[in-house]
Amino acid sequence: MAELETSGDGGASDPDAPRTRREVTGLSSAEAAERLAAQGPNRLPTAPPPPWWRSLLAQMTHFFAVMLWIAGVLAFVAGLPQLGVAIYVVIVVNGVFAFLQEHRAERAAERLRELLPRDVTVVRDGEPVTVPADDLVVDDLVLLEAGDRISADLVASEAHALRVDTSTLTGESVPEAIEAGDRLSAGCFVVEGEARAVVVAVGADTRLAGIAALARSRSRPPSPLARELHRLVITIARIAVGVGVAFFGLALLLGTAPSDGFLFAVGVTVALVPEGLLPTVTLSLAIGAQRMAARKALVRRLESVETLGSTTFICTDKTGTLTRNEMEVRVVWTPTGTTRLAGGGYGPVADLVDGSVARAGAQQVAQVARACSTGRAVEVDGVWRAQGDPMEAAIDALSRRLADGTEPVDGVVRRRFPFDPRRRRMSVVVDGRLLLKGAPETVLDRCRPPGPGVDAPAEVVEQLTAEGLRVLAVATRDAQAIGPDDDADRAERDLTLLGLLAFEDPPRSDVHDSLGECRRAGIKVAMITGDHPATAHAIAVETGLALPGAPVLDGSDLPDDDTELGELLDTDGIVVARVSPEDKLRIARALQERGHVVAMTGDGVNDGPALQQADIGVAMGESGTDVARESADLVLLDDHFATIVAAVEQGRATFTNVRRFLTYHLTDNVAELTPFVVWALSAGRIPLALGVLQILALDIGTDLLPALALGAEPPSDRVLDRAPHSGHLLNRRVLVRVFGVLGPAEAVIEMAAFAAVLLVGGWRPGHEVPTDWPVLLAASGAAFSAVVLGQLANMAACRSSFVPVWRLRWRGANRLLGIAAVTSLAALAASLFVPWLADLLGQAPPPPVGWAVALLAVPAVWLADSVHKRARRGRAARLVAT
Ligand code: ATP
Repeated sequence: MAELETSGDGGASDPDAPRTRREVTGLSSAEAAERLAAQGPNRLPTAPPPPWWRSLLAQMTHFFAVMLWIAGVLAFVAGLPQLGVAIYVVIVVNGVFAFLQEHRAERAAERLRELLPRDVTVVRDGEPVTVPADDLVVDDLVLLEAGDRISADLVASEAHALRVDTSTLTGESVPEAIEAGDRLSAGCFVVEGEARAVVVAVGADTRLAGIAALARSRSRPPSPLARELHRLVITIARIAVGVGVAFFGLALLLGTAPSDGFLFAVGVTVALVPEGLLPTVTLSLAIGAQRMAARKALVRRLESVETLGSTTFICTDKTGTLTRNEMEVRVVWTPTGTTRLAGGGYGPVADLVDGSVARAGAQQVAQVARACSTGRAVEVDGVWRAQGDPMEAAIDALSRRLADGTEPVDGVVRRRFPFDPRRRRMSVVVDGRLLLKGAPETVLDRCRPPGPGVDAPAEVVEQLTAEGLRVLAVATRDAQAIGPDDDADRAERDLTLLGLLAFEDPPRSDVHDSLGECRRAGIKVAMITGDHPATAHAIAVETGLALPGAPVLDGSDLPDDDTELGELLDTDGIVVARVSPEDKLRIARALQERGHVVAMTGDGVNDGPALQQADIGVAMGESGTDVARESADLVLLDDHFATIVAAVEQGRATFTNVRRFLTYHLTDNVAELTPFVVWALSAGRIPLALGVLQILALDIGTDLLPALALGAEPPSDRVLDRAPHSGHLLNRRVLVRVFGVLGPAEAVIEMAAFAAVLLVGGWRPGHEVPTDWPVLLAASGAAFSAVVLGQLANMAACRSSFVPVWRLRWRGANRLLGIAAVTSLAALAASLFVPWLADLLGQAPPPPVGWAVALLAVPAVWLADSVHKRARRGRAARLVAT
């Protein structure tokens, strides 16, 4: 960031060129407020959303809906108008339901986008302040640094080694070098250097506004989860149609009238098609995303909620994520002696612990380091805080402490070589001297050897880093020999080392617990940091991240071969220090090749590719750059490691919920299909227990709400007690549970209730009965009731895949479950006791024997479920024991 205090006669591209007052002090707050009121916020005009009816129509014209429309037409053609109407009712009810769910999900996603921080630094009243990007007005003076997103069209008044990524506008992937006087467009990113620039256009007047209008018409490709769900749904639909056709053939073979055969075929198909699945998944993800946001984890794409749940490896950085990012200089080393300071936050007073002899040297080191810093310690409401980079603010605080309260004076910056994470240093030219600070390894080699009798600085660095302190070297040289065309590499040579600064940045208090949770959850954690290996290791030990025997690697020692790299890194508690952004990218890829689902944090300007490569790119909301945030899937609003773990927990809960309602949905299908199978296998000797209309009523009457309720279940306490789940929603376990346990239990009672009523009513196998025989209608009512009650029991059972229903906690549980249960029971009562509805569905209230058997569906489902859960728990325990 450009030096603000440069006097009116100076600029850094051409420091002596005259500048207007506005280019020095910016607008006044009053002027800015006036302009904002007149101009309106700096926002891109948004296209009006598509009209609601079009979205609703889309829900009724997708693949399944089209299948159902065709089935409806066929029903009319076959002379079954009631069925045709019923199918259309299903399409409409499902469509409206899906539309409402999608609408809610979209609203949730929109609200999440609004939470994403988007701030800019501007000069107002001569002081740098951070304001929301929406508040930028024409003539505002903006300060830019590497990693910033450009939020309005600007003209650079000063540029230091500025390079801008314009790919969003031009598609050009090579960053463009920008000089003073050049224009910068909104939507681009600063990838290198620093600048001051004046706003020339905002909102709808920017170049981006025109292009964004074009981009909006392009649709986004579907996410992996959406693709997997689509595949799942298509597979089920194919099976449904296949089974339907097979039934039609079978019915004809058995001598059934073609229209009845057709009725069966449609029934089977409709029974199996999972119409409500996709919107329920979307809504479930949106609920997950909202819950994450409440815990300060902001997902930028809904599907990331699910991916987060399958995370197996977290690569976290150190500063700010594991530590508090509250820096303080505790030691200043100079060739003449060491000064130690007591803590004092960012305030201007702190006691010297020892080293008063070295104070003058320490003061010089602090002043030089401050001259090439822009972060400052500022007093707000009586409290001293960091503004800008906390490490640089700590340097500012130090220089005040050592200067006994005298205000530091800033020289005119003639030249600036901004920080970049590959060089790991930065410098400025002030008053004929180059002043530099940076990572000791990259500075000491460039310094002249120290005089005799002085401790070797490298050894001092080793001691200080071993204490967990972050160390910076501070050096200088005469600037006369630096040519105007010399780059940083040539300018930053032949240095004289002035001293070392050692910063303390304490670990966050709850990181220890969060790391414990990761381990419990079977997730490996690695520290991937730009800092010194010894500092990194000390912090890793202090937080409990480092496990005994886990290695500490240096970025420069990483093997070139990706497979070897993956093997080396696949260790819990490993520390990789001094990594470059390129290393991060390779690390993510190497771990993914070993089958890991990788979450990787990054906040720097060059971390974009690594964040995109990782399955979950995690950026910092408070301290990170805009570039990192734009590439990330997850933004931590509080920059906190514990928040990643909270997000993983919610991700797992959401995945589990999707599985829960999938299990629920499919179980119903088994119960709906069974009457047809029994009818076919008995060659028609046992009448159909459920008609197609009853099946449709089950699908829309009893399935929708409980599935929704299951999708909104909160995370269980044990969600982090298990190993991460593998990627497939529909795995063997779910299939066994549906087709081997829950489905059969429900179906057996359904058929038993049906048979009991028939037998008590005098029917014997093989008897031909008319479809309107009252006993048959009552038997069908009993079967229907058994399925509804069984599904209610199933809803409770699906709340957990481990814990039996009676051990589940019900107090304070998800209220939607209760609502769903009451609604289902009310729908059941209506379908039996409202005469016209019962007639339409082809059923009647069952006699006491029918009720007695139907009610058994509840204990039967719970019993089967708990036996299965017990067996699973036993198997899991045996696995652990071996
Ligand atoms: P982490 O990845 O854990 O957040 P980091 O913040 O230390 O680590 P970088 O910001 O890439 O990673 O910094 C790498 C090194 O560069 C630091 O250890 C420090 O030595 C040096 N450095 C960082 N910031 C500055 C700065 N403003 N001026 C000079 N040197 C710096």
